Amino acid sequence: MPASMPKFSFGPTTPVAFGVGRSAKLADDVTALCGAGASVLLVADPGLPKIAERLGEILKAGGHRVRLFTDVRSDPLGTQVDAAAEAARSADAAIVVGVGGGSTLDTAKFAATIARAGDKADHYGLAVHPLPANGLKKICVPTTAGTGSETTRVSVFTNAKSEKVWAWGDPLRADLALLDPELTVGLPAGLTAATGVDALVHAIEACTIRRLNPMNDALCHHAIRLIAANLRRAVEAPEDLEARGAMQIAAAMAGIGIDNTGTGIAHAMGHALGVVGHIHHGRAVGLCLRAALAWNAEADPARHAAVAVALGVPAQGCPPADLARDLAPAYDAFLREVGLPISLRKDGLAPADAERLAEVTMAPENKSMRDSNIREIAPADALRIAREVLSAA
Ligand SMILES: [Zn+2]
Repeated sequence: MPASMPKFSFGPTTPVAFGVGRSAKLADDVTALCGAGASVLLVADPGLPKIAERLGEILKAGGHRVRLFTDVRSDPLGTQVDAAAEAARSADAAIVVGVGGGSTLDTAKFAATIARAGDKADHYGLAVHPLPANGLKKICVPTTAGTGSETTRVSVFTNAKSEKVWAWGDPLRADLALLDPELTVGLPAGLTAATGVDALVHAIEACTIRRLNPMNDALCHHAIRLIAANLRRAVEAPEDLEARGAMQIAAAMAGIGIDNTGTGIAHAMGHALGVVGHIHHGRAVGLCLRAALAWNAEADPARHAAVAVALGVPAQGCPPADLARDLAPAYDAFLREVGLPISLRKDGLAPADAERLAEVTMAPENKSMRDSNIREIAPADALRIAREVLSAA
C-alpha cells in the first residue's frame, strides 16, 4: 500500500431507526433494550409539551413507567445534567429517552452515562477523566435535523466556570437513534435553517479536516447532497415530510461523520461566537465556516472540490482548483437561499468584538478543533477570520 494511503477505522456506528410515524414503536424499542415494565426517564425539551406527552403515553401504553424531566435549556449547564442524573437515580430508571434538539439530547445522553457514578458532570469536562462504563441505556429522539447528537459520542455543556466544554467517549453513544420526520414539522423556519446549516457544516468539516477517512467521506458527501436538495424546501414548506425526512437522515449521517473524524475552525470559532455573542450554534458555525472556507480550500483543493460538487457546483471537466475556488461563493449563496441571517449587527456584535472572538477561539477548550483544521490557525489567522465573521453583510 502506498505510504500516502491513510490509516483509519470506521464504526461501530449508532443503530438508527427511521420512518414517518416510527416514534409510535418507542415502547417496543425500550422493551428490546431493557425488558418489559422498565422505568424510563423521559428528558424532554420544555418547549415541546405535546410531543413529550405523546411519547409518555406511548411508553405507558407499552407497560413502562415514566418520569418526566424538562429542566433543560439551550447550551445546558453541568448542573442540569447532574439534576437529570439524580432524577434517573431517584426513579430507579433503566433507560433515559431524550426528545428534543441537540441540547436536550446531549443532556439525556450525559445524564444516562453518569447516573450510576458518584462524580458530577464537570468531572468529565474535556475528557480529563474517562466516562463510567456502567451507564443506563439511552434512546435519542431528535425534533430538529442538525446537531447529530443522536449519532455522536459527544455532549456539550457549560461548566461551573461558565466555559462551554464537552464530554466525549464510547459510553455516550446512544443505543438507538429514533428518527421520525413528523416530530420536526413544528420547527420554525429560522431554526430549521440554522440547525440544517449545522448539519451541513458537520458534513463539510468532517470530510475536509486533517484526519482522512475515505469511508466517512461517502457519508459526508451524501449528507451534503441531501441538504443541498432539501433544506430550502424544509424551510419554505415545513410540513413536507420528504424534505424533513431527508434532512433528518442527512443530520444523522453528518453526526456519524464528525464522530469519526471531528470538526475544525468553524466549530472552534463557532463555539467562541456562542460564548461571546450567544449566537445559535448552527448559525454561528455556519457564519464561521463562511469566513474561513476559501482560506481552507486553498490548502486542500481536491477535497474541497468534492464538497463543491456535492453542494451542486457543476463539475463539467473543471480542474479541482477551480471547483475548490467556486466552493466559498456557492456556500455563501446557499446560506442566503435558506434565509440564514449573515450580518451579526442586529445581534449586538461589531467588528470591534473581533479580538475577543479570536481570543476565545484560541482558548484551550477549542484546541482539539483548531488542531483538526486542515490549516494551522495562528492567532493572526483567528483575528482576520473573526473580523470577516463580524463585518459580513
Ligand atoms: Zn455543530
